[in-house]
Amino acid sequence: MSRNGNTIFSLILSGEIPSHKIYEDEFVYAFLDINPLSRGHTLVIPKEECSTMDLLSEKSASSLGMALPKICRAIIKITGAENYNIIQNNGEKAGQTVPHLHFHIIPRYPESTHSFVWNPSPIDHSDASELSKAIFYELG
Ligand code: 5GP
Repeated sequence: MSRNGNTIFSLILSGEIPSHKIYEDEFVYAFLDINPLSRGHTLVIPKEECSTMDLLSEKSASSLGMALPKICRAIIKITGAENYNIIQNNGEKAGQTVPHLHFHIIPRYPESTHSFVWNPSPIDHSDASELSKAIFYELG
């Protein structure tokens, strides 16, 4: 677990900074993003002070896993958005600006114009074969 209790999200969790709360349980908090890409853009965070996914405890992970689908269902029901993206950035170079783990839930409406940069290239099967085996064995 990473202890970094200085982020803006810690202040939101402690109530020192106000937020538009949409969900809370013992381990999870969700609130509307202050600069939404679309109406209903939500941030879902563990209460645990943890910066990136690889550092998250199993308890928080399991609570987040349970909460996310429930929150998605409520957002699509209330906003009417039939489509949405879930984005989760880890590390500054991966686009993370607040070092407290968070999931973005971003509704997409027919009129939405926001985009995510995505420039794929075909897989290298020889490298993929080695890589997949190495990660598979690491996971035991
Ligand atoms: P990241 O770039 O780290 O994936 O996303 C951080 C998100 O936190 C951004 O979308 C940003 O708008 C949001 N954010 C930053 N500060 C605040 C705040 O004080 N309140 C709320 N509600 N959202 C914030």
